[in-house]
Order: sequence, then C-alpha cells, then structure tokens
Amino acid sequence: MDKGKVLASSLLSKYKHFIFDCDGVLWLGSQRIPHSVELLRAIEDAGKHCYFLTNTSLVSREEIRLKMNDVLGYDIDADRIFTASSLAGSHVRINMSHKKKALVIGRGLLIKEIQATGIEVIDASQFDNRYEDFTYETKEDMAFEEIDLVVMGYDDRINYYKMALAFYAIQKGAELVSTNADRATNSYGYPELKTLGNGSWVACLESASGKKAFVSGKPNPGIFKIIGDIHHIEREDCLFIGDNLETDILFANRAGVDSLLVLTGVTEPKNMEHLLNREGAGKPTFIANDLS
Ligand SMILES: [Mg+2]
Repeated sequence: MDKGKVLASSLLSKYKHFIFDCDGVLWLGSQRIPHSVELLRAIEDAGKHCYFLTNTSLVSREEIRLKMNDVLGYDIDADRIFTASSLAGSHVRINMSHKKKALVIGRGLLIKEIQATGIEVIDASQFDNRYEDFTYETKEDMAFEEIDLVVMGYDDRINYYKMALAFYAIQKGAELVSTNADRATNSYGYPELKTLGNGSWVACLESASGKKAFVSGKPNPGIFKIIGDIHHIEREDCLFIGDNLETDILFANRAGVDSLLVLTGVTEPKNMEHLLNREGAGKPTFIANDLS
C-alpha cells in the first residue's frame, strides 16, 4: 500500500450506502476490473447498499443491469442504477411536472424517459432532415410558443432547424435540461481525436440565451438529492466511488459526500499527482489503487 492510500475494503464499516461510477471502476469497456465483484458482495453481505451512477445517456438502466450480469456475474434491481437519461426523466417528473410540452432533442432512449413522465413530447428526430429549406428568414408555424421545456441529449442528427426551434422556445420562457455537459466526446471513427459532444450544443444555446441548463449528469450535485430522496440516503452515511476527478470527485465534493478515487480508470497512478494538482480538480476524501 502506497503512502496516503487506503484499502477500499477498509471503508466498508464506515458507511451504509455506496454509490459507484461504472466504467473505470467496475469494468473497462467489457473487461471486469479485478476486486470489483468481491467488494460489491462484501457490501451486500454486511447488510449495506450499492447504487450505480453513470453519465451515459445512450444506454438504459436495464441494459446496464444486463451488463452487470454479463461482465460481473452480479445482479441488482434496475432501480438502483442511474443514468444521465433516467435522471433527466426523474428531474422532470419530480421538479417539472407542471410543464405541458417538451421538445426532446436526442436519441430514442431519452425520448422514452421523458414520455414516461407524462409530459407531452415533441420528438425532434422528426426534424432530422429539415436543413435544406430552413434559414434565419423562414417564418412558419413552428409551435415554439407551446414548448415550455427543452431536453437535450447527444444527437448526431443535430441541425439548424432543431437548434433554432429550441432557441425560439427558450426565448419564450422554456427551461433547458441537458443529460450532460461533455463538450467533446470519444470519436470511434478517429480514435485519436474527439468529436462534438452534447455539451457543445447546450453551450451554444446557453451562450445565445444567457440561461443555464440543468445538467442531469455528474458533476451536478442536484442529482444526489434525487437519488438520496428515492433511496433515503443521508449524505454522512454515503461514500461515492469513481475514477474521474472532474466528474466523479467534483460531484461528490459539490454534493457534500465523501469520495474514494480509484486508479483503475482515467486517473492512473502515473498521472495522479499531475491531475490532483491541476487547478479546478477536486480532491477526494480517500484514494485507493483499486477496489481490494
Ligand atoms: Mg468512470
């Protein structure tokens, strides 16, 4: 054990609730990270509780539950799993039930999450091909005055029509909810480069309108309240475990929850000191090499 580091298993007696990030903590892609299942089982055996919080907006809670079965051989109720899409739905259901009509820009899963809240949804994918005849001069019946909520997730069919419709609605008072703030995201076509993330469309609308979006992914501390209220979790009884300083540890710090940084994902032993000393990076309560 290196100086200043702890054994993750030594923290078991200190907390009642353990919220895990997934990628880089439990698995890397489709590879199980050693010691992850053993710690999950030890927490359960001690009569304590595990939850899972991931920033992905493209995969459903059920798909993550199935991946846990496949990769870890570990089964858990889907209601203990939180994704950026499911949290956008929870936020709308809990805090925005008075809304009448939502414009949802994103993939099918996000549309379903918002439809499940009972709010009428305009699925922006019907405008996927509205880019040839629409300009800043166009005046047509866009019904933006009826839209009182705009929800955005990753959409690689984004276009000027969708953005203009969202911006018109926001100027008329619609609120903006986003699944994440990632301005750049992995490009699988060009692995050495990033591509535009959902956060870049959201930043565009924020910049034009001067209004801030509610971001349903980490590091927004508001999502701890959603999870905590659903599962009756008190901050002081909870440990958050993640591999990313800028999302996981910043989230825990902002939410007032203790955190454990593990060095099995984006923060590696060789770049840890550099990342910890970088301006704006959060400091974790504990650091461990892995979940042993
Ligand atoms: Mg991670």
